Amino acid sequence: MEETTNCVVCGRDGGYHRAVVDVVDERVVGALCRECEREEFGRTLERGFFEAREGCILCDRDGHVAIPIWRPVARTTDDGAVLNEVTFAIDEATVRLCDEHLAAIAEEFPATRPRPVPSR
Ligand SMILES: [Zn+2]
Ligand SMILES: [Zn+2]
Repeated sequence: MEETTNCVVCGRDGGYHRAVVDVVDERVVGALCRECEREEFGRTLERGFFEAREGCILCDRDGHVAIPIWRPVARTTDDGAVLNEVTFAIDEATVRLCDEHLAAIAEEFPATRPRPVPSR
């Protein structure tokens, strides 16, 4: 599966800080880089100063996307090579935003319109 890890706010490489996950499609739709998290949320998210619940952390609407933190994991393949990968877990404490609040911070959203793949 091709995953987009560019920051949804600034469009640069998100640097595996936080993933932006469409919880309806269960699809990684982008990333939120450290700089943009600071800019948009200050230290609120990293300190957990938000109301953890099912829906959007900013309003009463459904949380359309989750913004979990990427965590590095080392995986050993069948032939003994160690791969460094990143993963994330989404649970009740994961930051969620509704599509409206995500659209308020993100340049190219909603995710139903796929982002153009940047040419390398
Ligand atoms: Zn960014
Ligand atoms: Zn909201």
